[in-house]
Amino acid sequence: MEYIKKVDDALIKKLEEFHGALVPGLIIGAYMVELAYERLDAAEFVDAVVESRKCIADSVQLMTKCTVGNGWLKVYDWGIFAITLYDKRRKDGIRVCLDESKIPKDTITYEWFFRKVGKHSHPEVNKELLELKKTILSYEPVTVNIVRQKSPPIQCCEVCGTPFPSDGKNICPACRADKYYTIKLL
Ligand SMILES: [Zn+2]
Repeated sequence: MEYIKKVDDALIKKLEEFHGALVPGLIIGAYMVELAYERLDAAEFVDAVVESRKCIADSVQLMTKCTVGNGWLKVYDWGIFAITLYDKRRKDGIRVCLDESKIPKDTITYEWFFRKVGKHSHPEVNKELLELKKTILSYEPVTVNIVRQKSPPIQCCEVCGTPFPSDGKNICPACRADKYYTIKLL
């Protein structure tokens, strides 16, 4: 398992390939991971939390190998620039956030952060972020309260027949919610 704990040109290139484009959140996320690893007390088995499902999540997935799929990454869809890396056994870790009070007000990065400028500013923001590095981040030691749920048994939906993890109801989540698809008649 390859962890990437430092930001360098090779990593930036990898992030760009992984995400599809180099955007500011990827760079911020990369420095967040670097800072968290520096402050983590030699944790061997790291789990991660991201407080946004956007770009920073991809930096965390690429660098830590904690992914949505392997269950070591928990994603909160809050739109907040913050991550936590923690020791999965001891549950203690480091939460890193983007600290807007540390962003120099005369930068395009400041404008971008408060959504005053659009995507066209990304190349300029990226350039600034690669110079600002970790200076715009803050961190705090934390204890994580996340408890992993045991996998429930599988049951079949009374409406559509789809097998789904039992949650005390007889109808699957897709049938309970508005379906995101309709079946085409051929
Ligand atoms: Zn169903």
